[in-house]
Amino acid sequence: MIVMKFGGTSVQDAKAINRAAEIVEGRLKERPIVVVSAMSKVTDSLLAMGKAAGGGDRKSALRMARALRERHYETAGELLGTALFTEFHGELGADFEDLDELLRGIAAVGEITPRTYDYVASFGEVLSSKIVAAAFAGRGLPGMHVDSRQCLLTDNSFTRAIPQFEETNERLLKKVQPLVDAGKVAVMGGFIGSTRNGITTTIGRGGSDFSAAIFGAALHADRIEIWTDVDGMMTTDPRLCPDARRIKVISFDEAAELAYFGAKVLHPATVLPAIQQNIPVFVLNSQNPTCEGTKVTARAPRCSNIFKAIAVKKKITLVEIAAPRRLLVQGYLKSIFEVFDKHEVAVDVVSTSEVSVSVTAETNESIPALAADLAKLADVKYEGRKAIVCLVGENLRDTAGIAAKVFGLLEDIKIRMISQGASEINLTFVIEEDAAADVVRRLHKAFFAEADPEVFA
Ligand code: ADP
Ligand code: ASP
Ligand code: MG
Repeated sequence: MIVMKFGGTSVQDAKAINRAAEIVEGRLKERPIVVVSAMSKVTDSLLAMGKAAGGGDRKSALRMARALRERHYETAGELLGTALFTEFHGELGADFEDLDELLRGIAAVGEITPRTYDYVASFGEVLSSKIVAAAFAGRGLPGMHVDSRQCLLTDNSFTRAIPQFEETNERLLKKVQPLVDAGKVAVMGGFIGSTRNGITTTIGRGGSDFSAAIFGAALHADRIEIWTDVDGMMTTDPRLCPDARRIKVISFDEAAELAYFGAKVLHPATVLPAIQQNIPVFVLNSQNPTCEGTKVTARAPRCSNIFKAIAVKKKITLVEIAAPRRLLVQGYLKSIFEVFDKHEVAVDVVSTSEVSVSVTAETNESIPALAADLAKLADVKYEGRKAIVCLVGENLRDTAGIAAKVFGLLEDIKIRMISQGASEINLTFVIEEDAAADVVRRLHKAFFAEADPEVFA
C-alpha cells in the first residue's frame, strides 16, 4: 500500500481537489490511503478566530467562521453537485454549528487555553477530509472518511502533542488496514489526534506530513508521497530564488536538517517513522503530477556538489547571555536552558564562549518574559529581525576549506553567529533578516551554477 498526503494548496478549492482525485485514481492499484491538510490558510484563520473569541471579540470570531463556512460549502457544492451536496450538507452544517458554539463559549469565558486552541484548529482537517472523501465517492472512487482522532493517539501536550506510537499503530491496523484490504481508499485528516480520554489534540504546525509518515509506518507502506505546490525539494526556496533547482534524491538526514532550518516543504519529524522502516518518501507537485519530484532515501547518492541545498529561516531573535567567568560553574548552562524550557521557547542555534552564550529562537511573544527571567541569572540582550541561513550536504563531512569558500563570498555581510551542526552535514550562520534574500541568491549562484545531473534536475 502507499500513503498519499495532499497539503493545503493541493486541496485549496474544488479544482485542486479534483486534481488530487485524478492523481489518486491513477494509483488505485497500489492501494493508497489519503491524508489531507486543511484547505490552504484555514488553520491560520481558525487560530485567528480562537484568538478573537479568547479576547472577547465574539462578533469577529463568528464573522470569520461564517466566511469559512461559505468557502467550504462552495467547494463541496461545486464538487458534489446539487443532489449529493444536499445529502452531505447536514453533516458539514453540524460541524459548523459546533464551531460556532465553541467560539461563543470561548468568547463568554474570554480566555482560550491550548486545549481549546487544538479543538478549534482541528476543524480544518476534519472538514477537508470529509469533503475530499465525499468528492472521491461522488466520482466513483471508493473513498471512505476515517476520523484520524480515533486512530492517532497522543499525549496531552496540546498544540504539539506527542504521538503514542504503539497504540496508534494497533488502532491503524484495526481500523484502516481492513479498508485497504477491501479496496477502499481511506481519507484521513492529518495534524489531528486525540488523548486517551478522547480530547482532540494537534501534533504541531505543518504536522500533516508527520501524520502521513506515522500512518505509512504503521501500515508498512511501500512509499509515502507528499503532494505539495512545488516540484519537490529544491536547492533553495523557489519563492526566494527563481533559479532554484529540483533535488532528485536527498538523504533523510539532509532533508531533516533542511526542514529544521526552514525548508517547510517537509515537516522535520516526518522523516523519523519513515527512516525507522526504510520507507522512501517522495515530495511531488500536485499541479505538475508527471514531474518525478524528490526522493528522500536512507542514504544519499554521491554528489559532485558540496551542498544539496540552502535553507533560510526568518523571524529569528538572537539572545545573548553574558555572565563573566561563570560559565564554567557547574549547572550554569542547565539553569539557562531551563528558563527557555519554562517559557517553551525552542532553541535553534547555540554558541558559547567563556563569558557568553548566544542562542537563537523563533521570534515570538514569550521572548520579553524569557529575557526578564534570564536577566535574573546574567546580563541579557536580545535582537529580533535576524535570519538563519543553513547550507546542507553530506559532502561537508569530508571536504576541507568549505567555510572559507562560503564566507569569502560574504565579506561585506555582518555575520552574527556561526555553527557547524553536530551532524556535520550543515553549516549554519545568523545574519540580519534584510540581507537574507541577497545572501541566499549569492550562495546559490556560487554553489549551484554547475549542478551534478545525477542529483539535480
Ligand atoms: P503544503 O501546504 O503542501 O504542506 P507547504 O507550504 O507546507 O506546503 O510547503 C511548500 C512550500 O515550501 C513551497 O511552496 C515553498 O515555498 C516552500 N519551501 C521552502 N524551502 C523550500 C525548498 N528548499 N524546496 C521546496 N520548497 C520550499
Ligand atoms: N493544517 C495544519 C497547518 O497549517 C497542518 C498542515 O498543513 O500540515 O499547520
Ligand atoms: Mg506543509
